[in-house]
Amino acid sequence: MFKNGSLKLFSVRGIDIRLHYTFPLILIYAALQFGIFIGGGLSGAIFGVVATSLLFVLVTLHELGHSFAALHYNVPVERIVLSPIGGVAQLRRMPEDPKQEFVVAIAGPAVNFIIAVIFGIFALAIGINIVNPFDILGSFSLTALFSYVFVSNIFLALFNLIPAFPMDGGRVLRALLAMRLDYVRATSIAATIGRGFAILLGIYGFFGGGIFLMIIAFFLFTMAGQESAAVRVSRALKGYTVQQAYNASVHRLHPYQTLQHAANMILYSSQDVLPVSEDGRLVGLVTKAQVMELLQTQGPNTYVGHIMKRDVAPVSLQSEITSVQRRFNEEGLSALPVVGHGEYLIGLITRRHIAELYRMLSLRPNVAGGVQSA
Ligand code: ZN
Repeated sequence: MFKNGSLKLFSVRGIDIRLHYTFPLILIYAALQFGIFIGGGLSGAIFGVVATSLLFVLVTLHELGHSFAALHYNVPVERIVLSPIGGVAQLRRMPEDPKQEFVVAIAGPAVNFIIAVIFGIFALAIGINIVNPFDILGSFSLTALFSYVFVSNIFLALFNLIPAFPMDGGRVLRALLAMRLDYVRATSIAATIGRGFAILLGIYGFFGGGIFLMIIAFFLFTMAGQESAAVRVSRALKGYTVQQAYNASVHRLHPYQTLQHAANMILYSSQDVLPVSEDGRLVGLVTKAQVMELLQTQGPNTYVGHIMKRDVAPVSLQSEITSVQRRFNEEGLSALPVVGHGEYLIGLITRRHIAELYRMLSLRPNVAGGVQSA
C-alpha cells in the first residue's frame, strides 16, 4: 500500500491514484489558514479542510484528463500522485507527435473548463452569487464553499496554461510550434518563452508576490532549460546504436559468488551495476544499492544468485541509443547489460557512456563515425 513515499487511494483504468506522505501538511495548513489566520475558529478550520479536499478532487480530475488522453494514444500512465503543491500524472513518455502532445496537454485544463461550465449553470439555476465569492467567504456556509471551489477550479485551469515548461501551457505552446517548425527548434523557442515567463513571475514574487511564487519561478526556469536540453540530446543521438557507446571490458559476477565479493568488485571496478553470468550467458544483474543494503540484512556470505534481479531485459549492439535512454528513464535504471548471439554477455551500457557519446558528438559531429543510420 505505502511505497515510494505515497499511499494508494484507489485506481481508475489501471492508474493508481496515490497521496504523497507530505499531503496532510496542506490540510493542516488549510485548517490553520481558515481557522486562525482568517479567524474562523473551528467552523473555519473545517471549512478549510473540506474546501481543500474538494480542490484536490478537481486536481485529480484534471490529471485524469491528461491520463485518459494519453491512454487514448497508447501512452501508459504509471500513476497520479497528489502532493501539497498539486498533482502529477506520471506518463511513461510524452507523445512526440505534436498533435498528440497538444491533446494530452490541453485535456487537463479542458476538464476544469467543463467543470466550470457545469458549476456555472448550476449556480445560475439555484441563484448563487459566484461573481463576487469573496464577500461570502467569511460565512463558511455551503454557498461560500461552492464559490471557493468554483473560483479555484478556474484558477487551476488558467494557472496551468501559463506557457512555461513543465506547465500544460508550455507543452501546448511547443506542440503548436512543432506543427510548423522542427521539433528541437520548437522546443527551444517554447523554452525561451517559458524562461521569460519564469523571470516575470520571479520579479513579481520579489516585489510583493511572495517567496512561494519565487520558488515556483525558479523551478519553471530550471525545468525549461532541462526540457530543451533533453530534446537536443535525444535528437543528436538519433540513429546511433549501443555499439558506438557501450563498454566491452565489463566486470561480471558468477551466481555462486558472495555478496562480499560483489561489494569488493563494486569498490575496485567503480561499476555501480554488475551483470551476473554463467558459462558466459547473462543470467541476472545486481546493483550497488542492492548489494549495500543486502550486506546488512542477509550477510556477506549470501550467494549473488539468490538475490540478483533476473527479469532485466538486455540490449543488443544494434539497439538504438535513444531507446536505451528511454528505458533508463522509464525503468529508473542507470545501466543495462549488452548481449550478443545466444544471450552471451558482451558488455554494459550506462548513462555515463551515453553522456560521453553525446559530448563527443557535440565537439565533433562525426567522431563516432560512419555507421550512423538515420
Ligand atoms: Zn495539467
